[in-house]
Amino acid sequence: METKPPIKAIIVGGAIAGLTLAHSLKHANIDYEVIDAYPIASPVGASIAIFQNGCMVLDQLGIYQDLRSLVHPLKTMNIRLPSGKLVAGPPAGALLEQRFGYSVCLLPRKRLIQLLYDHLEDKSKVHAGHGKRVIRVDHSVDGVEVFTEDGSSYSGDVVVGCDGIHSSVRSEMWRHADLNQPGKSLADRSAFVSEFSCLFGIAGAVPGLPPGEANIVHGKTVSFLTFIGLNGDVYFFLYMRMSERYQWPDSPRFSQEQAESLANANIGAKITEDVTFGDIWIKRRTFTLLPMEEGVLQNWHWGRFTVVGDAAHKMTVNLGQGGNGAIESAAALANALNEANLSRRGDRVSQEEIETALSNYQEFRRPRLSNIAHAAYEITRIQALEGIKPWVFLSTLYFDSTMLANLSTEQFLGTVLLNYIRRPIRLDNSLWLQDRNKPFTKSPSLQMVACVVLVLTISLVLKA
Ligand SMILES: Cc1cc2nc3c(=O)[nH]c(=O)nc-3n(C[C@H](O)[C@H](O)[C@H](O)COP(=O)(O)OP(=O)(O)OC[C@H]3O[C@@H](n4cnc5c(N)ncnc54)[C@H](O)[C@@H]3O)c2cc1C
Repeated sequence: METKPPIKAIIVGGAIAGLTLAHSLKHANIDYEVIDAYPIASPVGASIAIFQNGCMVLDQLGIYQDLRSLVHPLKTMNIRLPSGKLVAGPPAGALLEQRFGYSVCLLPRKRLIQLLYDHLEDKSKVHAGHGKRVIRVDHSVDGVEVFTEDGSSYSGDVVVGCDGIHSSVRSEMWRHADLNQPGKSLADRSAFVSEFSCLFGIAGAVPGLPPGEANIVHGKTVSFLTFIGLNGDVYFFLYMRMSERYQWPDSPRFSQEQAESLANANIGAKITEDVTFGDIWIKRRTFTLLPMEEGVLQNWHWGRFTVVGDAAHKMTVNLGQGGNGAIESAAALANALNEANLSRRGDRVSQEEIETALSNYQEFRRPRLSNIAHAAYEITRIQALEGIKPWVFLSTLYFDSTMLANLSTEQFLGTVLLNYIRRPIRLDNSLWLQDRNKPFTKSPSLQMVACVVLVLTISLVLKA
């Protein structure tokens, strides 16, 4: 039987987006190479929450079970005022687990990446570490050639930038696009801005912060998120609006001294009624202060170039959807490339066929992603108590503690799954199939909402 050579993708970036894509392409019999400038799973001191949408795709790839065994799942989300006072303590994580059959998995980011890597069968396709920084991409009608610092080059049919917010592939895509269509990249060059910074880290167990709980403390100058994971480890986040709005690539860089002085200025801030930020800070093992870029590119592809994950869409940390969104985007791109692989006419896939696949990827994925990025934008400002929305949000939550789980349920019902791998069996008995078309948010009468909101807003403002 005549066999056509498989499509070959050069994936730049071997983190969440890149390794999820590698797994997804392998299942579609599409060839790939992964290139990363650093050894895989280098420690960066960050944590990650993989929500139901990320879990579903990882389950299709046979990775969820091992992920679940590494974590203490999130059960409760305590929503608090700046005084630490509890507004609501909904069992949002437990409810989502009940509805979808997947836990919210909290773990250090490097452990997730290590797990993705360990599950890759053919590690010879991963080229990571010293000298493997991608510095140039050549593009022609016949294919792409990707060059790294050590003088190596990798050829393929398509190059995928999974290389984060400072993506080199995206820069090369813009360079080629502008050479062919002057001004093509102009709008996207100003797509990412940062208004908030985030001091994050991992600390040892703190009395009063039990595993499986999260605390979200709203506040005007600073707001906080703490997730308590396995062994009581505290994944902490301090958010602050910066004095200026920065446009990428001119985002500020912060020193460890600046991070320490921000922490020291907030030692007395409340995380719960009994625990202060100082109680966590004193147990810190890692910490970093970063600006949080926000933005979604207009154009996710050009020619044989495309981008996935933070290289294409960047959100604040507050909603915990950047990495989950990267997993979904990888799945969406794999679906489109699988389609192109199956339907191509010639022996080798043509540039036109690649372009169609990349355009399908963007058209399918961008609207859902943009909605989630907008939710992340809103929740960041709500946690910072900016304007009236926070008070409406907190009042509604006080009235209906299932609201958070309901909003998330609606969001996760639209998850992009790999459409060439069987839907995970775990979902068969879940609400996913049973109640897919049923709305979860209640719609109480306007008068009732207005009345409740007014009364509760006044009482919350007084308590804060
Ligand atoms: C503190 C913090 C907490 C977060 N919490 C959550 C959460 O709870 N849930 C969630 O979903 N998301 C969370 N996020 C967001 C999430 O971490 C990112 O969205 C996600 O890591 C993006 O993955 P990525 O693979 O697209 O990019 P990255 O993680 O940025 O990986 C890019 C990779 O590309 C490599 N690379 C870069 N340039 C080159 C080059 N020129 N050549 C070769 N390799 C290159 C890098 O070494 C890196 O390995 C959090 C982010 C932060 C900062």
